[in-house]
This record gives sequence, C-alpha cells and structure tokens, in this order.
Amino acid sequence: MEGSLDIAIVGAGIGGLTAALALQRAGFRPTVYEQAPRLGEVGAGLSLSPSAAHALRYLGVGARLDAIAYLPEDQAVRHYQDGRALQWTNRGQTLLDKYGERYYLVHRADLHGAIADAVTANDADAIRLGRHFASLSQDGERVRLVFADGSQAAAGLVIGADGSRSQVRHELFGDSGPKYTGYIAWRGLVPMDRVPPGVLDPPSGIYVGPGHLVNRYPVRGGALLNFVAFAERAAWTEEGWSIRSTVEELLADFEDWHPDVRAFLAAVPPELLFKWGLFDREPLTRWSLGRVTLLGDAAHPVLPFLGHGAVLAIEDAVLLARAIAASGDLAQALARYEAARIPRASFVVRESRKAVKVFHSHEPEKYALKTGGKAADERLGLFDYNPATAAV
Ligand SMILES: Cc1cc2nc3c(=O)[nH]c(=O)nc-3n(C[C@H](O)[C@H](O)[C@H](O)COP(=O)(O)OP(=O)(O)OC[C@H]3O[C@@H](n4cnc5c(N)ncnc54)[C@H](O)[C@@H]3O)c2cc1C
Repeated sequence: MEGSLDIAIVGAGIGGLTAALALQRAGFRPTVYEQAPRLGEVGAGLSLSPSAAHALRYLGVGARLDAIAYLPEDQAVRHYQDGRALQWTNRGQTLLDKYGERYYLVHRADLHGAIADAVTANDADAIRLGRHFASLSQDGERVRLVFADGSQAAAGLVIGADGSRSQVRHELFGDSGPKYTGYIAWRGLVPMDRVPPGVLDPPSGIYVGPGHLVNRYPVRGGALLNFVAFAERAAWTEEGWSIRSTVEELLADFEDWHPDVRAFLAAVPPELLFKWGLFDREPLTRWSLGRVTLLGDAAHPVLPFLGHGAVLAIEDAVLLARAIAASGDLAQALARYEAARIPRASFVVRESRKAVKVFHSHEPEKYALKTGGKAADERLGLFDYNPATAAV
C-alpha cells in the first residue's frame, strides 16, 4: 500500500513507538497518541533476544542498542540455598554464531528513549502526549477516535498499542477480565556501587527455589543491577505494577536464601523497589476488526517468565509495517499480519505460563534434568526468528 494511508497508533510504549518507526521506514507518517503527559518508561530492566536485536538493527537503532546495552556472556542458574550452579548458558558468541545476534540487557527507559528519538528525528510532530484514548467508531472508510478530554481524531487505520489493559482491545472485543495467577513479584534497581563485591558471579544470573525465583542482571552498561523476585501468594487485588514495598517485606519472603541473594536485595534503595501481582488473560483468536488492529501487550498480554513481552511487541511492529507495505489493501495487510503473528505470540503466551513451573521448582537440584541443560527461550526455538525477513 502506498504511504497515503493515515495511521493512528494508541500508546507510546515500546510496541507503539517501534510500530511508528517501522511505518516511517516504510514511507508512512503515523501519529502516536499517548495518555501520559511526558514520554517515559518505568525503571526496570529488559532482556532482548536475538530476534528483537535483528528488528532494532533493521530499524536503524542498532548503534544505540550497542551503546545502551549490557552484554552478558555466560549466565548461571543457581540453587537458592547453597548457591551451587545448576546450569550455565552462553548468551554471547554461541548465539552470534547460531543466530547472527546475541542477547542484550537494557534499562527500559534507555531503549524507549532510543526508539522515541528515532521516531521524532523522522517527524518532530509524530507523538501527541496527554491524549487518553476513550472510545472509537468506524465505517468502511474511516475510524474516529475520542479521547478523555473530549478531543477527537480520525484515521484510515488505528493500531491499539495501549498495553495489557488495552482500551482499544476492550472497544473491539470486550474484555474477558484478568485472572490472578497466584504469583507476585518485586522489581528493584540497585546502583552497582551499593552491591557488595563478589556477590554477582556471573553478573547475569537466576536463583531458583521452592515457590520463588530471583532473576538479576546489570543494565545501563553495568551502572545498575536490575532484579525481579517472584513469589507464590494466595491472593492479590491490584493489577498495577508500581506498588511500593519495603526492603523488610522483600527480605522476609527470601529469609532462607543464599547470602549473595540477600546481599543485593538488601542493598536496593526503597524508592527503587516496587511490587505487583501477576494477572493473566486468555489469548485472542483475532486481533483486528475492520480498520483497527492490536499489537504488543494489547493483543497478547504475556507473563514475564520467558522475558519476551517487549520482544513480541517489537516483532509485531515490524511485521505489521511490512505487511502493510507489501499488501494491495488494508484487509489483506491485516490478514497477513495476523497469520504471521498470532501463532508465534500465542505459543509464547502458553509457554510463558508453563515456564513458571520449571523456575519455581520445589526440587531445584533437578533443574537441569527438566530443561535438558538449555535456557527455556532457546530450547523453545524462540531465537530462530528474524522480523526483518520472516514471511508475512
Ligand atoms: C517484571 C517484568 C519483566 C519483564 N521483562 C521483560 C524482558 O526481560 N523482556 C521482554 O521482552 N519483556 C519483558 N517484559 C514484558 C514487557 O515489559 C511488555 O510486554 C512490553 O512493555 C509491552 O509493550 P507494549 O508497548 O505493548 O505495552 P506498554 O509498555 O504497556 O505500553 C502501553 C502504552 O500505552 C499507553 N496507554 C495505555 N492506555 C492508554 C490510553 N487509553 N490512551 C493512550 N495511551 C494509553 C501507556 O501509557 C503506555 O505508554 C516484562 C514485564 C514485566 C512486568
């Protein structure tokens, strides 16, 4: 399709901004509507797989990725109590040799800023802030958007990239309602100079124990240590992921854990510590209706146990732009996009649910037996995908 199609994207998260950049690259001039008054991302880490790295390079932000990322080499999975290594995985040269890309660890705000800069360098007017999407209506030609402040916009295609509690998805398909999973998590960022020497061996690693899992790795080139600590918990009510916690509450849940783990947990500044409950939704069987489609968490909210939510959002964005650019009309483009993406995204959603069972092991010493000695994401074949060349 030629670049005359006007496209509105709801949500300037990593998925929405990547879609804007991919569409600009294909000759379109999309407008992104974001509810927040300022562009930003929460303070947390993200692991990016080879497929996300291929996508970011294809979009011209590879050099920024190299500049902001921490590059892990060997990652260890360790026993929660005695700290013995249960499994080693190489995230560097072995992946480069096999997939042409490696693993990257980034601060979400750094990646978000890199993509936002690239979008606004192409079009200074591309992102409209303070626009909280409320409802939409469409006929065969146009989609009309209404925002909470009463303002309106119209477009020939609307992309809902407004996250796991998507209002665009709600407008299209209603909402089956989130289900609490029985897991909560804490996330924290620790300035590296507060981490006692010798407790990070290797810098990027996971500890597994009964009903609990701790994943920790450096971000911002090694200046900060990011951690996520998961625990089973019978009940939870709030879905937001920025609820304050205390270091005492966190440590109480990891009381009998290895001193190396407790050392970096104890070092987190309280203002950089948050907790949240993990909620799950049934995957949709279609993502588009008329001239409106979905991507990222809006289309397929995913539990974080394979670290693949942002990766999927980035992949969706590239495949959607490529499908639009390669198709004769919009209906064909959206059909190609769904055919290319729904099977892969639904697979990751299902496998992310299953992965927690391996990580939250009540027999951590049998970890490598269950995994066959391979990291879950690689074992599942998730790395063997290049969004720049994948069929669409
Ligand atoms: C603890 C944790 C760890 C994770 N780790 C990883 C990891 O290592 N690797 C990985 O790939 N993924 C990871 N993920 C998943 C990843 O963070 C998400 O899947 C990803 O951010 C989804 O991007 P998105 O753009 O679809 O949605 P979001 O990032 O949620 O962005 C949605 C945007 O839409 C805006 N918005 C919402 N509603 C409206 C509205 N009504 N009107 C206008 N704007 C609106 C929001 O303000 C936001 O800017 C993790 C998630 C969690 C919770």
